[in-house]
Amino acid sequence: MSGSTATKYTIDLEEEKEEILRRYRSLLRAVRGERSAENTRLIRKAFNIALEAHKEQRRKSGEPYIYHPIAVARICAEEIGLGVTSVVAALLHDTVEDTDLTLEDVRDLFGDTVATIIDGLTKISGVNWQTDSMQAENFRKVLLTLAQDVRVILIKLADRLHNMRTLDSMSRDKQMKIASETLFLYAPLAHRLGLYNIKSELEDLSLRGKEPEVYHDIEQRLKKGETVRRRFISRFILPIREALEKEAFEFEIKGRPKSIYSIWQKMQTKGVTFEEVYDLFAIRIIVDSKPELEKADCWKVYSIVTDYYQPSPDRLRDWISMPKANGYESLHTTVMSPGGKWVEVQIRSRRMDQVAEMGLAAHYRYKGEEEHVHAMEGMLNKIRELLKDPGSSALDFVNDFKLNLFNDVIMAFTPKGEMRSLPVGATALDFAFDIHSQIGRRCIGAKVNHKLVPMSQPLRNGDQVEIITSRKQQPKEEWLNYVVTASARHKIKQALRDQKRKLATVGREAVQHKLRAWGAKVNDENIAILADHLLASSPADLYWKVARERHNLETMPTPPMKNGRLMLPKGIRPKDERPLEEIVAEIRGTSGGTFTIGDELRSMEYKLSPCCHPIPGDDVFGFLTPNDGIRIHRVNCHNAVQLMSNFAMRIVKARWKGKDSMEFLAGIQFSGIDAVGLVNRITTIISHENNVNMRSISFESKDGIFEGKVMAYVHSADHLHSLVEKLRSVPEVRRVERIDH
Ligand code: MN
Repeated sequence: MSGSTATKYTIDLEEEKEEILRRYRSLLRAVRGERSAENTRLIRKAFNIALEAHKEQRRKSGEPYIYHPIAVARICAEEIGLGVTSVVAALLHDTVEDTDLTLEDVRDLFGDTVATIIDGLTKISGVNWQTDSMQAENFRKVLLTLAQDVRVILIKLADRLHNMRTLDSMSRDKQMKIASETLFLYAPLAHRLGLYNIKSELEDLSLRGKEPEVYHDIEQRLKKGETVRRRFISRFILPIREALEKEAFEFEIKGRPKSIYSIWQKMQTKGVTFEEVYDLFAIRIIVDSKPELEKADCWKVYSIVTDYYQPSPDRLRDWISMPKANGYESLHTTVMSPGGKWVEVQIRSRRMDQVAEMGLAAHYRYKGEEEHVHAMEGMLNKIRELLKDPGSSALDFVNDFKLNLFNDVIMAFTPKGEMRSLPVGATALDFAFDIHSQIGRRCIGAKVNHKLVPMSQPLRNGDQVEIITSRKQQPKEEWLNYVVTASARHKIKQALRDQKRKLATVGREAVQHKLRAWGAKVNDENIAILADHLLASSPADLYWKVARERHNLETMPTPPMKNGRLMLPKGIRPKDERPLEEIVAEIRGTSGGTFTIGDELRSMEYKLSPCCHPIPGDDVFGFLTPNDGIRIHRVNCHNAVQLMSNFAMRIVKARWKGKDSMEFLAGIQFSGIDAVGLVNRITTIISHENNVNMRSISFESKDGIFEGKVMAYVHSADHLHSLVEKLRSVPEVRRVERIDH
């Protein structure tokens, strides 16, 4: 190293030191309300220890590592509203995992609470998300830690948010992985905790990580429409503003466009264009009310708004009288603007707005952290209840969890008027189990609002439900399809297990009886031999199958024996039931991890997934199925997020071999204004395109609007794209898009 570089390096270090201190000071400023000398001393101590522990480390971007814990601590204080304990824990969150500092050191220096939080955080990141274990199992581990102290997950969310904000310095593979995980787990979690701003930012950043072009495209278009939108809003709110001022309200009006992710999601799920989604935005009126007047004021504002604009009668949502499960309170209405456009108006108090944006943290901002944590106890209890069920698989668990905690709730009433809250989609059977497990077990139907309905009937908000029971009733397997709540599922499974246990006793007696009748010894060895012979996976399985009469022991001839030992061969399984891991290893071993689509030398079968119709040139990945070989999906397939998050082990990298060697079926749909000779022109365009082999074309015209669909064989994504462009150039055609599903 030459002298001059050494000097330059030293200067950088000095600058960095300055920058670290600057960032540390702005962290201190962010810790509002709790700046006692004692607290400042604690934060300084944590900062100094973290700084020392991470001094040799740098982030992927080349920055000093300490920037990261400082940023995480600042998010905790500023954006989640957490207090000193969390700030201290956030500063130290990566030390035990990545440096020489031990958990005991932390306990000695900062006490039990901080040590417990750090321990939880270390366990979460100790969960190896990169390797082959199922993501669902990891999810469960995360929640186990969360159930101990909600600050663990709040700090973890802050950590994830900062990592997402700095995602650019990661490799492409890692970006995809982290973004998928964020979308699958962390964004819904933030939503459930009521951290609305963090949830939307996580979603937007995930989309940017996964599909940068799509993201930037929407971003650009939003920017372009900005002026028009502003003009519309100011004209729309003018009369409302004047009326509110006349009534001496203190208020603020905001007009915000939807988040990029939510626009994208609408475009995907509803199959609409950017323009159609973009048109929809919400106006928010926030009133500064005295606590006792909040509700009355919101309704007064509602009345003023609807004096000027006609509301849509079925679009009034009152989340003030019945707040959402995550604490959200607001009054929503949709009104018609003079230009003939529906506009959603959200009315809420300042406090409600803060809760909506920052979660429950807002409530307790100035009351201290312990109380804030206490406020989340209700949700933690639900999580603990879910975690109690030992019988559910990790994946069941995740699904149950998402259903129960991420969804909105409905209120239903007992005949005596007692209110029960259940997730949206809950059925009469869920309701029965919610009242009591015995009522659930004996349910044969229900009366909803005095009308007889089957137990599988989904309930609606405000329903009054009377459960009809019978002593003779017993839970059945298919009941699992009739319920959505985790607790009902759990209770049904429990009942089925009880039944199974009873059956097993019957089965065991039958097997023992038969062995005796044959003159064979009644021992474990003979039972195992018989189980093997009859393809039962264990003695318990054998008993169960015998009791359910899947195996008829009665008609089985006396087998050959030697000294009372059965001489029966093992049963032969009908097909290859090798464990999946073995198959994965085989594929990965021979191909260096990448599966080449269209390579005839491959022995592995593959199928192009019908859910997203991948064609060459698309970004794709392979998903290993137990019976169907590899399924190829597009990375932006709506199933992909879930597959990538849940079954990382089964994901196989895939790429296309060569080009033009294969043909793929792709679909295009288009619509526009009908005109004479249009069908003819369009078919000409398609058939003149080189190498396009049209399979079917259909047109439908109604009231001057036509819709068409073409299925054709193409060679690649580029090829398809050029076809789409040509169709777009037809003046009457207003919309052309690829059929995804
Ligand atoms: Mn971290």
